[in-house]
Amino acid sequence: MHQTASNVFRESITNSREFTVTYELVPGRGSGGKRLENILQLADLAKNDGRIKAFSITDNPGGHPALSPTSLGLDLQTMGISPLLHFSLKDKNRNMAESQLFESHRHDLMNILVLGGDYPRHGFQGQAMPVFDLDSTQLLTLISRLRHDFTVKKGRPGQAMALPTIDFFAGCVVSPFKTRESEQVWQYVKLLTKIQCGAQFVISQLGFDMLKYEELIRFASDQKLFIPIMANIFVPTLAVARIMNQGRVPGVILPNALLQQMEREAKSSDKGEEARLLRAAKMIAAVRKVGYAGIHLGGNKLTFESISFLLDQAESFTDTDQAEEVHFPEPSTWYLYNNCAKKQKQRNLPIRYRANNFIHKQLFAEKGMLFPLFSNFSLRVQTNKYAKKLYTFAEHLIKKFLFHCRMCGDCTLAESSYLCPQSGCPKRMVNGPCGGSIDGYCEVYPKEKICFWVRSYHRGPEPDCRKIHKLKSIPPKDWSLNQTSSWLNYFSGKDHVRLQIKEKQSDD
Ligand code: SF4
Repeated sequence: MHQTASNVFRESITNSREFTVTYELVPGRGSGGKRLENILQLADLAKNDGRIKAFSITDNPGGHPALSPTSLGLDLQTMGISPLLHFSLKDKNRNMAESQLFESHRHDLMNILVLGGDYPRHGFQGQAMPVFDLDSTQLLTLISRLRHDFTVKKGRPGQAMALPTIDFFAGCVVSPFKTRESEQVWQYVKLLTKIQCGAQFVISQLGFDMLKYEELIRFASDQKLFIPIMANIFVPTLAVARIMNQGRVPGVILPNALLQQMEREAKSSDKGEEARLLRAAKMIAAVRKVGYAGIHLGGNKLTFESISFLLDQAESFTDTDQAEEVHFPEPSTWYLYNNCAKKQKQRNLPIRYRANNFIHKQLFAEKGMLFPLFSNFSLRVQTNKYAKKLYTFAEHLIKKFLFHCRMCGDCTLAESSYLCPQSGCPKRMVNGPCGGSIDGYCEVYPKEKICFWVRSYHRGPEPDCRKIHKLKSIPPKDWSLNQTSSWLNYFSGKDHVRLQIKEKQSDD
């Protein structure tokens, strides 16, 4: 393959003999200025050095507005550096996502890291509207289609047109650093689902628990995931470490023990600079030893000299085991291989779940006793305008009372233990959680509301730490169904259930 700036990263990470290093750039708010100059200067120095194979560019991190990754990606591409664009879904609907993919392809920006994204925070004259029209599994599915066979359906603009294929190199993220069983099991279920949807490489969340870094590699090996996994190694300053320790960065845990050590180190003449670089170097050596394909490096106020020092030091530690020295676990963390009770009896499911499941099966499963009656009745109701209105009103009344239903028109209650993600999850995630929860609490309401998917885990039968498996990703909701009856949509084949059946048939 001819090596362009765009595919240096792909060639490196897919080469099992190479240990790939990428570095995360965080463009600020604005289209120029000192911050951007520093970024470009650092990139230029790194290019001449040659050890960093790609620069990843964050997409409005923390939910704040910033220069777009495409713009900085183009600058890097022009300099002959391989960019890896973060592609988050908090502020783009599916059409914007698709159009931005076309834009990336047009500029030969082919490396994409798919993320749900942090909940939007500050913006012009107030907090921005959260979009989350697609989740990461759904965007990966779209990218997969673009890779193979995207044909626009008849009756749509550009109908029956097969789009030219686009061979993006798309990756996903996973956090092995969750402290609770429910959060961690979901992360692994979602990782398997993302890979099934087309992720070609994985980058971990940043963390400081070396056993957890190891756990992810062991899990990948158990599950026979033959795709490269990179460890996210972050070098925080003391100020950022304090923010992380307070749980103010979504999904990031920085334990007290590490913060206390950093406070002590900060009393030295270099304010702890060398100590934090050496710690990161030891972490790199440790993750390399357990089988990571590379590292995704990030940090605050890192100069090229400090990155270079850090990489040199990491090389020097290659033959020794450094993991214990830099292992900072959060007390009472749940570990898959230590804490999952393999012989545990079947969980006792709450009565509410069992009652809902029983009624659901009777009414909506083809073998259910009431299915023929209810489906015939529903299909007949469809033909009369007034009966349809009354039926829709009755559905809303019942489901609002029982499930805080929002009448999205494409009901996924049965896939989330009869809890409604439209009203229960601020990002309306239907395919498992985002990565933003901390200690079981929702990213959007830290220490206040338990994550929707943690609640779902404890309420239903699946997933289970003893048999972690991928899920069939629920396709994105068709917004033309909003505020219509999901029961009628189900019986008339307009909702996700029918779409999944069609997809299965075409797969067969
Ligand atoms: S409820 Fe869970 S999945 Fe939804 S936004 Fe909060 S942390 Fe993310």
